[in-house]
Amino acid sequence: MPSKYILVTGGTGFIGSHTSIALAAAGYIPLLLDNFSNSDARVLQRLNNIIGTTPKLVEGDVRDTPLLAKLFGDYDITGVMHFAGLKAVGDSVADPLSYYDVNVCGTVNLARAMKASGVKTLIFSSSATVYGEPESSPIPEHAPFAPANPYGQSKAMSELILADLHKSDPTWRIARLRYFNPVGAHESGLIGELPQGKPNNLMPFVSQVAVGIRERLTVHGNDYPTPDGTGVRDYVHVMDLAEGHVAALRHVTDNPGLLTLNLGTGVGASVLDVVNTFERVSGRPVARDMGPRRPGDVPAYWADPSQALATLGWKAKRGLDEMCADSWRWQALNPDAYDRRTRPRTTSTAV
Ligand code: NAD
Ligand code: UDP
Repeated sequence: MPSKYILVTGGTGFIGSHTSIALAAAGYIPLLLDNFSNSDARVLQRLNNIIGTTPKLVEGDVRDTPLLAKLFGDYDITGVMHFAGLKAVGDSVADPLSYYDVNVCGTVNLARAMKASGVKTLIFSSSATVYGEPESSPIPEHAPFAPANPYGQSKAMSELILADLHKSDPTWRIARLRYFNPVGAHESGLIGELPQGKPNNLMPFVSQVAVGIRERLTVHGNDYPTPDGTGVRDYVHVMDLAEGHVAALRHVTDNPGLLTLNLGTGVGASVLDVVNTFERVSGRPVARDMGPRRPGDVPAYWADPSQALATLGWKAKRGLDEMCADSWRWQALNPDAYDRRTRPRTTSTAV
């Protein structure tokens, strides 16, 4: 019998690669599509070490209509997880057209190809950024859209497009998953996050300070109305997120409809909580300076994850200790992985 695949766009990226592990563990066969604009082909060998087989990969762009038609023709694809996209808020302000092109046009192009081939099961990577600066936390899914930048707009637009698609044909099975702050890495330390250049996000910056790539962390503001004055976020372990995707796939497979869920822990952690926990679990000092607030930052927000529990039976299992320990393991085992971005195109390159 020919294999049935779950297409994972952006499958060599941070969340896509971890979700491919969770898919394989659940008995699905991931088929990766990626253009390597923000990933490294060496992740395939690492996935092989973890899963026991190298996932099939198609190198290409989610906006490439003929490529997608061929992909859906060549493989028996039963569902799609759509991670491919651009995600840097600052870049989206500087270059909004690229963000709308990749994130919105990419999603439309993918959905069109799915429609043409009769594949109507789609798990979409959305973000808590669609809420902008929320009135209060925890944030429920019915909180209004208020994206504050082109990246957030591109996610909100894609969500609305998918809702219209579902309205036009209710046999679609769509999950729009809004992630809070994904961090951590697979427990093996073989794969993890690969930010380009100087990280904007807290966890990769902290791990780079701990390993000695960067000298000091600047804490962006310690005068917020939070318990210790620093910004509060809902950090969620990437493997919990990955398992949430599998749970969502199972759910929509059995229940056609449009599902919208927050994926977070429901617990806020401050910048200093993260730094102190990281120091404790890694045994490494993280030098830090207090700096001014980062423009556009929200003081504090965290998820109301109760709908995901009620609907999927999914709940984040890993706490901040595990998030920091796994980030550190990945960083410590791959000390210069972030700076050695050669992006080979072959799948056989050993790391
Ligand atoms: P990532 O950059 O590590 O992964 C995205 C992958 O998509 C990369 O491998 C990249 O090469 C690929 N890609 C980009 N444009 C493409 C294109 N046009 N065609 C094919 N492949 C393309 O990012 P990630 O953290 O894994 O994020 C995955 C998804 O989750 C994104 O859509 C992102 O917006 C969303 N998201 C991420 C976060 C986060 O903090 N990491 C939070 C909320 C939502
Ligand atoms: N942060 C910080 N120093 C850094 C990077 C981030 O103090 O070098 C803070 C940031 O101000 C926020 C929190 O860490 O309060 C999480 O930031 P991140 O960029 O990881 O996530 P986001 O703000 O996009 O939710």
